[in-house]
Amino acid sequence: MHKFFTPKENIIDNQGKILGDDVKHLYKVLRLNEGDQIVLNNCEGQEFLATIKEITKQEVILNIEEKLEINNESSIKIYLYQGLPKAQKMDLIVQKGTELGIAEFIPTLTDRVDIKLKGDFKKLDRLNRIALEAAKQSKRSIIPKVLEPVDFDTALNNLKNLDLVIVPYENAENFGIKTLFNNENIDISSIKTVGILVGPEGGFELEEINKLRENGAYIVTLGSRILRTETAGFVATSLVQYELGDLGGSK
Ligand code: SAM
Repeated sequence: MHKFFTPKENIIDNQGKILGDDVKHLYKVLRLNEGDQIVLNNCEGQEFLATIKEITKQEVILNIEEKLEINNESSIKIYLYQGLPKAQKMDLIVQKGTELGIAEFIPTLTDRVDIKLKGDFKKLDRLNRIALEAAKQSKRSIIPKVLEPVDFDTALNNLKNLDLVIVPYENAENFGIKTLFNNENIDISSIKTVGILVGPEGGFELEEINKLRENGAYIVTLGSRILRTETAGFVATSLVQYELGDLGGSK
């Protein structure tokens, strides 16, 4: 069944509406008609079974039939602090990271980030649109957020509030995510939030790694091959979801 996202203010009592580009997608591309049913998500993690009552060029009016208990979210919330990469790599990171269940993407300005931001982060709207489209495609129950870039110290501060922080480091040896979950005395059941900080194309400064370690982060290797920054985030996220979340088949 097709799923659509609409801001919660568009759902009042037992009536909902869809506006904007999704209207045309619904009737022209998906060829849905009055009487057909869809899943309507209120962009805040609640979903409803809804029947199409009326379709106009501007809006689709729906009857809300019932609240659904579907929850396509992992049992853990992963925050990807991504060393801001060059060009369009962030598009791919947001798209694939959304499919993998990431809750928030925080572009991070570490020492070796090659981009000098002047004023607002111009890509933010586009990246959040990519997150919305990927959330629809992967039938997420929430739409992950892409936030304004933060500097290293802000990231360090924010990471302290999470249950587990993992930093894939290109010069780390031996200690990997498997070792982390097998050897460290981590109470897996208590972990609900995970921060993953990935370096940009240029990698990390040793001083950054030392600061992260001093603040409780686990510095891990992802193997002997050097992965692209966009690959490293996907690998680390997948491994964490496999060990703690729902990629391993259990919620
Ligand atoms: N400039 C670095 C070099 O040549 O060694 C490579 C940086 S890599 C392209 C970008 C980021 O991906 C790294 O900072 C790290 O966060 C992650 N990464 C890539 N390969 C990794 C590996 N084998 N183990 C751990 N982290 C890795």
